[in-house]
Formats: sequence, structure tokens, C-alpha cells
Amino acid sequence: MNDARRSWNEARRKTSFVSNVSHELKTPLTSIRMYAELMAEGRVADEATSRRYLEVIGEESRRLTRLVNNMLDFARLEQGRKHYKPEAIDLPTFIEELLEVHGLRLARAGMQVELKGSAGQDLPRVSMDRDALEQALLNVVDNALKYAAEGGELLIEIAHTPRLATVTVSDRGPGIPPPHRRRIFDKFHRVDESLTSRRQGSGLGLSIARGLMRDLGGELSYTPRTDGGSHFVFSIPWETSPS
Ligand code: ADP
Repeated sequence: MNDARRSWNEARRKTSFVSNVSHELKTPLTSIRMYAELMAEGRVADEATSRRYLEVIGEESRRLTRLVNNMLDFARLEQGRKHYKPEAIDLPTFIEELLEVHGLRLARAGMQVELKGSAGQDLPRVSMDRDALEQALLNVVDNALKYAAEGGELLIEIAHTPRLATVTVSDRGPGIPPPHRRRIFDKFHRVDESLTSRRQGSGLGLSIARGLMRDLGGELSYTPRTDGGSHFVFSIPWETSPS
């Protein structure tokens, strides 16, 4: 009985995974095709509209790239064949650049972005793989956009301990209910259907982000935010211990 139940659950998870992923990939593809066809048919009245359509096509293509990168990372992490190139990274600069690239998206969703704790500090560099750190941070930032945009705030705070640098990404969204706080890092886990069904996802973003961080000697954890919202805390090892 137990074996039968286990394989039934496994099959159900696989089916819902495939349908969730297909759905997530299809949405940006549909917009790209629609806007490209409108332009190809010459049905765009003016220059400003065509520029807007091109912006959507660019934005949705980048979203597609992030989704595909996540799927590739997921497969490689599962098979233990993800390769990393750790290098010395200046954390404040890295995050400022990330926000420069993604700031517009966040602003458009009505989120005010604040970066704290980096100014005037001469921090040593951290040791990380650039792509992995970007992917992990983006998964958490994308979640804030997806689940917490109505809170209107995204705070990124850099801090340091003798052993580690920390980057805390905080929002003013609904936060994670206590029974789910550990499980959100499990693959496929999504909080509650009525909340999440309105938002697409396959329940992989946080498990990938944590997997990437742990592989590189770091950590990703969750703590609830006082007065509502979430803190996602990245711990990242220094390249060399600060003196
Ligand atoms: P996905 O977003 O594809 O469902 P994730 O692994 O990225 O998968 O997230 C797991 C779940 O954690 C989400 O389904 C959502 O319920 C919850 N979650 C993640 N980030 C937030 C957040 N910032 N605020 C509220 N809930 C969140």
C-alpha cells in the first residue's frame, strides 16, 4: 500500500510539475509571439507604440531566459553535476548592478527599492560564482515581485559578521505562514493554492536558490518580518576573513 501511495504521489507531482513548467514557459512565449506578429503585420500605429511592443518582447525574452536557466540549474543540481567558478566579488557593486538591470521591472510593479548598508564601507570581497549568486538573488527578488508587490517595498540590506557577509531581501507582502516556513525550500512546495494559484510557479525557485548557495559554502534562510512581510537572508563566505 505504502509503495503504491508513494508512486502515485510521485506520478502526481511529476504531472503537475510538467504542467506548471509548461504554463510558465508558455506565458512569455505567447506575449512575444503576439507583439511580434502585430509588428510584422504592420498594425502598429505609431513609433511610441512600436517601441513599447519591442520593450515587452525584450522583457519577456529575458523572463524566458531566467526560467530556462532555473530549469537547467534544477536538473544539474539534482544530478550533482552543476559546475561553479567561484571568484572574488565586490558585493555592494554586484547588487547595485543587479538593481540597475532589474530596477525598472520593480518600479513598474509599484515597488520602491532601497539598498542599505553598503555606503562608505570598505568590505572585503566575497567568494562566489557570479551566475549562481545572480540566479539565487533573482529568484528571491522575482518572488517579492510575484507575491509581495502590493506591499510596495523591497529592501536589500548588506551586513557583515567576521565569518560571513549577509544580504537580506525584505518585502512587505503576506509573509510565509508558520507551517510552511521550512517547507518553502523543498522542491515543488508552494504555500497555499488559493494564494498561489493566481500566480504561476513550479515551486522550484527557492529550492534552487538554497541549493546554489549551499553548494558554494553559503546559506539562504527565511525569517518573518516584524509588522508583516518576509526577510530572505543570504549568507555568503568572505574570500578571505576580514581583519
Ligand atoms: P514558486 O514561486 O514557483 O511557487 P518558490 O520555490 O520560488 O516557487 O517559492 C515557494 C513558495 O513560497 C511560493 O509558491 C510562495 O507561496 C512562497 N513565497 C516565496 N516567496 C514569497 C514572498 N516573498 N512572499 C510570500 N510568499 C512567498
